Amino acid sequence: MTARVLVVDDIPANVKLLEARLGAEYFDVSTANSGEQALARIAKEAPDIVLLDVMMPGMDGFEVCRRIKSNPESAHLPVVMVTALDQISDRIQGLEAGADDFLTKPVNDLALFARVRSLVRLKTMVDELRLRQATGESMGLGEAATRSFNEPPGRGRILVVEDREQSVSRVRDNLADDHDIDVVSQTTEAVVRAKGGDYDLVIVSLALDKQDGLRFCATLRSLEATRQTPILAVIDEGDTKRMVRALDIGVNDYLMRPIERHELCARVRTQLRRRRYAERLKQSLQLSLELAITDQLTGLFNRRYMSRHLSTLLSEGAKPVSFLMLDVDFFKQINDTYGHDVGDEVLKEFANRISANVRGIDLACRFGGEEFVVVMPDTDLSFAYLVAERLRQSVADAPFVLNGESRQLPVTISIGVAASQSGDTPEALLKRADKALYRAKREGRNRVAADAA
Ligand code: GH3
Ligand code: MG
Ligand code: MG
Repeated sequence: MTARVLVVDDIPANVKLLEARLGAEYFDVSTANSGEQALARIAKEAPDIVLLDVMMPGMDGFEVCRRIKSNPESAHLPVVMVTALDQISDRIQGLEAGADDFLTKPVNDLALFARVRSLVRLKTMVDELRLRQATGESMGLGEAATRSFNEPPGRGRILVVEDREQSVSRVRDNLADDHDIDVVSQTTEAVVRAKGGDYDLVIVSLALDKQDGLRFCATLRSLEATRQTPILAVIDEGDTKRMVRALDIGVNDYLMRPIERHELCARVRTQLRRRRYAERLKQSLQLSLELAITDQLTGLFNRRYMSRHLSTLLSEGAKPVSFLMLDVDFFKQINDTYGHDVGDEVLKEFANRISANVRGIDLACRFGGEEFVVVMPDTDLSFAYLVAERLRQSVADAPFVLNGESRQLPVTISIGVAASQSGDTPEALLKRADKALYRAKREGRNRVAADAA
């Protein structure tokens, strides 16, 4: 994996050392020797990860980290503080400034590389989501709701996999006020719970008695339902080997024993924040996808999507595709008499009745204005005619009840039906349905007409 690493330290020898070690692992390294320079580089070069010294003249590492995390453009960027400070209070201060990890000099190479690889891998996924979000925004489907990375993550659902009484109560004491905690001591049960429990985080001990915590982590990563669930591993002090393995397997973060209260809370918060951020990006992506293919007023598919889909269906060839073109009778009068809003409500109710009367494989779409279309795969003309007739009746037989009003409005529709012939184009099929619709109108409305061809 290649990744762009920004190394920040005010002492040139430290920079050189990290640059050489990371370069040897084929990371693409750039450097900065002050906080100001680091921020400028981040804005210009968009690195994948920042290794940040704490003690620097002028702006110190904590402040640099806070600035990175409070800027929406860089908040998702992983930051690892690398420092000679080894007091627990320093670690806490770093984590609370938003750092993803805090490594103490002299840094163990294996630990450093594993950590960098792991954070970069996790970032790749978020980058992809951010990119799609940007594409959606550029297409006018945007939602700025996903901007903030730093929103408080709120209560999380956490599964704790631990068999030591003392550790369990420690975790419980520190987290139960702010989160919902479930504790399990067997990994087999934990897999079942994690699959079904919709957890925001799994905290797992890698020193379980007679059970393989690493294997458990690997299992979670291999299952569709838990692939994205964040994992925080609890590791015995100094067990670098297991820590490296855990990160390579795909654990999101780790904690060394003895578990320190603030560190635990800070790391849990970081994982939840990342989780929520990814969730928001996914939701907004889902929303822009929906916006791109649906009609806002009725929630049916839009014309663009229908046209594409019809082309695909017809190009598959073998099976007949039927096409209904539906149009509200005298809709202009409804608008003129009751107003545009009532007209809109009629269109929504019409869409509901269409949806209620077609099969799951049929595609109901608002074609434009008061015209609707139903595309019916694998359906011949005579069956499509029956469906059209049922639809016509479902509208004509029950007047529309308008939202909150006692008034009932009689509505009728006309429908043109056509079925595909071999070699048909979407345009030709549509045109035949449209001609049939025109005939239904001419012959008196509130009726179905089939293409004669
Ligand atoms: P016909 O029976 O021949 O179909 O007559 P009609 O009045 O239904 O047809 P016409 O094409 O003359 O009028 C359609 C009207 O639909 C005109 C337009 O203002 C209205 N319309 C188009 N889109 C919308 C919409 O989104 N909301 C509302 N309320 N009205 C719309
Ligand atoms: Mg320094
Ligand atoms: Mg009409």
